[in-house]
Amino acid sequence: MSDVTIIGGGIIGVCTAIALQNEGFSVELVDRGIATEGASYGNCGLLAVGEVVPISKPGVITKIPKWLLDPESPLFVRPKEMITQMPWLLRFLWSGRRKRVLEIAKAMAPLTHRAEDDYKALFAQVGISDNLVPAENIMAFNSKADYEADQFSWDLRRQHGFNHRFLTGEELRSLEPALDGPISCGVLLEGWLQFSDPGLVQQRLTKFYVSRGGKLRTASVERIETDGKKAVAVHLAGGERLQVRRLAICAGAWSGKLARNLGIKVPIAALQGYHHHLPKPRVKLNRAVLYANGGFVLTPMESGLRIGGTIEVAGLDPRPNFERANIIARKAVGILPGLDISGGQQWMGPRPFMPDTLPVIDRAPNHDNVVLAFGHGQVGMTLGATTGRIVSDLIAGRTPGLDLSPYRSTRF
Ligand SMILES: Cc1cc2nc3c(=O)[nH]c(=O)nc-3n(C[C@H](O)[C@H](O)[C@H](O)COP(=O)(O)OP(=O)(O)OC[C@H]3O[C@@H](n4cnc5c(N)ncnc54)[C@H](O)[C@@H]3O)c2cc1C
Repeated sequence: MSDVTIIGGGIIGVCTAIALQNEGFSVELVDRGIATEGASYGNCGLLAVGEVVPISKPGVITKIPKWLLDPESPLFVRPKEMITQMPWLLRFLWSGRRKRVLEIAKAMAPLTHRAEDDYKALFAQVGISDNLVPAENIMAFNSKADYEADQFSWDLRRQHGFNHRFLTGEELRSLEPALDGPISCGVLLEGWLQFSDPGLVQQRLTKFYVSRGGKLRTASVERIETDGKKAVAVHLAGGERLQVRRLAICAGAWSGKLARNLGIKVPIAALQGYHHHLPKPRVKLNRAVLYANGGFVLTPMESGLRIGGTIEVAGLDPRPNFERANIIARKAVGILPGLDISGGQQWMGPRPFMPDTLPVIDRAPNHDNVVLAFGHGQVGMTLGATTGRIVSDLIAGRTPGLDLSPYRSTRF
């Protein structure tokens, strides 16, 4: 039996596995093995350090009816989910009141402030330092008024030490000559970097973990068995029972069902995102561009150009609606003339989302050998290395160097 069993081998699981190995623990990582299904494979690859302001914030509620009526908007709720996800949606909107948003940003900032240093240390250890690309991201707007409309978020980011620099159209095009169309200005998001390719980063970290003797088991965990005080085993599809000494639940959007085995009810939703990935885009970007008016991100990666984004409330394992990916691909042509979107690979995957956008990083209440690490929303790629270190602190019995109370599983 390994010292620690981890359920989920996405970015959170694999970073946790390596951090635990560094502490001298033997580790077994259990993943269903369909790496491309997890959010860590298909995300936009931003080290989004300043993304401390939640999606639900003052003013958003008034935009929702327009978004819901527009099939091309960045947010879409499948009609059936309107009812089943209503409790989550109400909590999400309730988290968007001003006072709570200020608390959320304050709680998110200590995590994202550490992200770059934690990844730099991890990537240096693994020998993949060049997988963190030092090109700062840009956010592009159709008009200056669009930029100014979200002054609340800009001020809040700045208050927490995340600065940006306004770019005129000319300055923007000198950095990114390929951008055109309705874009008239932008901002340089200082300190926001990007990964060379999130799926490849995840693969390389996993390979490193295995090369150091880490066990990797391809299996689906159906249920966690407890004796009321501790988790004692996980039951795998196919009937096998795997005894556990300590357990970390890092199963992304699928974590809610596993947590329920421990009597913990967490309001986690799967907010599906899409990408359209172009191995041969025929245009060149030097850095990731977040197109505010389109609700998508363009990221130049090792394996091509990724157009990613959109939020679809469609449940946990829905059938993909790739028209969502087509929509963002068509919009991308509007700002990148010459972009060839034919032959793109399309993907859908779930952001593990808590209503307040904050992750759960916590010891399981009533089961002291279990740690919970999931629900990282739109910043899970950013927070992989940091979360791994915090979880290893908890399992090693150390007090992590920050207050974990905002990330408690019982906060709702
Ligand atoms: C379109 C899109 C763009 C994004 N862009 C960014 C970005 O630019 N920057 C950023 O920081 N974040 C971004 N995110 C968010 C980020 O991708 C996620 O928060 C992060 O990947 C979550 O990582 P995870 O390890 O928790 O989950 P996942 O990557 O989903 O991994 C969970 C793993 O658990 C496994 N699993 C689940 N249940 C079981 C079970 N019962 N038994 C065994 N295995 C199981 C799954 O197979 C999966 O491999 C984006 C997300 C999307 C969808």
